[in-house]
Amino acid sequence: MSNTDNPLLDFTGLPRFCDVRPEHVAPALDRLLEENRRSRESLLAGHGHYTWDDFVQPIEDMNERLNRVWSVVAHLNAVMDNEALRAAYNEGVVRVTDYYTELQQDERLYSGYQSVAKSAQFSAYSQAQRKLVENRLRDFRLFGAELPADKKRRFGEVQSELAVLQARFEQNVLDATQGWALYLDDEADLAGLPEAARTLAREEAAREGRSGWKLTLRAPSYQAFMSYADHRELRQRMYEAYVTRASDQGPNAGRWDNGPLMLRLLALRHEEARLLGFSHYAEYALQKRMVKSVEQVLGFLRELAERARPVAVRELEELAAFAREQHGLKRLEAWDIPYYSEKLRQARYGFSQEDLRPYFPAKRVVSGMFEVVRRLYGVHIVSVDNPDVWHPDVRFYEIRDESGAVRGRCYMDLYARAHKRGGAWMDECISRKRTAAGVQHPVAFLVCNFSPSMDGRPALLTHEEVITLFHEFGHGLHHLLTTVDYPGVAGLNGVAWDAVELPSQFMENWCWEREALDLIAAHWQTGQKLPESLFEKLIASKNFQAGMQFVRQLEFALFDMLLHSANEPPTAVHDIQQLLEEVRREVAVVFPPTFNRFQNSFTHIFSGGYAAGYYSYKWAEVLSADAFSKFEENGIFDRRTGLEFLHHVLEPGGSREPMELFVAFRGREPTVDALLRHTGLVA
Ligand code: ZN
Repeated sequence: MSNTDNPLLDFTGLPRFCDVRPEHVAPALDRLLEENRRSRESLLAGHGHYTWDDFVQPIEDMNERLNRVWSVVAHLNAVMDNEALRAAYNEGVVRVTDYYTELQQDERLYSGYQSVAKSAQFSAYSQAQRKLVENRLRDFRLFGAELPADKKRRFGEVQSELAVLQARFEQNVLDATQGWALYLDDEADLAGLPEAARTLAREEAAREGRSGWKLTLRAPSYQAFMSYADHRELRQRMYEAYVTRASDQGPNAGRWDNGPLMLRLLALRHEEARLLGFSHYAEYALQKRMVKSVEQVLGFLRELAERARPVAVRELEELAAFAREQHGLKRLEAWDIPYYSEKLRQARYGFSQEDLRPYFPAKRVVSGMFEVVRRLYGVHIVSVDNPDVWHPDVRFYEIRDESGAVRGRCYMDLYARAHKRGGAWMDECISRKRTAAGVQHPVAFLVCNFSPSMDGRPALLTHEEVITLFHEFGHGLHHLLTTVDYPGVAGLNGVAWDAVELPSQFMENWCWEREALDLIAAHWQTGQKLPESLFEKLIASKNFQAGMQFVRQLEFALFDMLLHSANEPPTAVHDIQQLLEEVRREVAVVFPPTFNRFQNSFTHIFSGGYAAGYYSYKWAEVLSADAFSKFEENGIFDRRTGLEFLHHVLEPGGSREPMELFVAFRGREPTVDALLRHTGLVA
């Protein structure tokens, strides 16, 4: 196959999604890996005195082409899962991992980078170039470039196996999510469920040629059922199916069980760290973070727990009392919590999440969000026709600056559907890079799982979904608005993982401001703005159960950090369960039933990038709340403050240390005050 025959190897423009087939994956990798290996050998055959132009840049270019191909494959695998693509992905992920291991362990390359760093020109390179070289030198060490041959080989084997198992963990969760559904024939069983959720359930059933309703474990269906369905036993059945996905418990016990995978993953991560001389995986992972020690992370989380737990205890007591007094419920079970929480919210604030939905038609929310971004950073975002997408739901946008010059482009795939991974995320499609022909503009994928349009009615979002969209778009802006010309440190690349959530969580703040809501909210039928009474109720309820949500995040973060900082990895799944229970006794207020196997679908830490890094959400929340407090002082649409955030945080991306960037923007180091104030944990 020639380059032009294989759409994955066409680098002339945007990916050709309509042409890409699973059978293109292996030949594209064959070709690219072979070319890259050959180019590397010819680079290394040189004189040994390396510079940016004749050494670093060509290597960056090779990596960038491989990343471009692989990002398309990984993206399609996440949003359009099928057997052939999954097989091609699983085979490819090992080859790509092996390739990078080989690259990172190559002593000749390592000394090439060392010679660049020691060269006389080094100090004349830009900040971004120097940071990139320093990062690469660090990564050589962290990939075992300094290890003896046998340990190096073993390290590589560990990397390969980790890549396979992490992919399988995720696939098991997807299969388990799709592998169970609740079919209902009696409409009485749907009592309490909002119209939107009923329509979705009817359409899901109709798609299979059935009458009645099909409730699934995908977010729009599951969350609505748990929050609104009056039928307690059915809620219990949904809950059991959901929290036992990919485990040894529940209706599909033993099928897709991630238990053994977790043990193996943890053992391999431990071995990886030990090979490099670290005591455990967490210590290894923290080498590339803002936070420098496990003790610092644990201290940070426990200090927050001390403040949040008493609030959470009180909230849970109030909920139990409400369910008992108003609804005669004797014992509040895990499958009752979302349901009575929603009832309590309605009783206390006089509105339901569903009341807001008509004011958030997805199209309006998206265009309003773009207007928020225009006011802050002066960039214009417009919808552009692009028929070459992977699904008809996908929309495509272009970002231009005030002079009309393109800054970046973005695909949005917003709605839940079968064969699509759950959750919401932003991913890189193409990175910003300077080439001989000019600047190559960044392109992003933005993926969510919102309730789709139904019954001729447009897609209407809940306020929580609006927040999710802003969050992911904040990641998107980090990638799209970077002005760094070297992909390795452009946008999110090279940013310490515990600082990555700063631009995303920062954007969420605008979802709570009247002035911003007026841009994003308009009734889908009347065009009416969010009524003042409803706005006041929304704001009054902002910190509803904030303590309970806070301690839940702390529970996940502590569990993750303790799991990855043990001196020996667990040897039985029971040990993992036991650790989780200990953490719950320390910080949680809700104790799930014994069959709960939440950990078996904790993809963030077992297949995503958050291993020993879940604390990042809270850590970066301190930064994002403090950053936003500057807007509270100067006005939420203050252009000058907006441009400062753009120039000091978004544009430099990974080219500087996150703390330097934060201080440049805020004028001082971060404090936890704004976060505590925003979440109502202090007055
Ligand atoms: Zn995020």
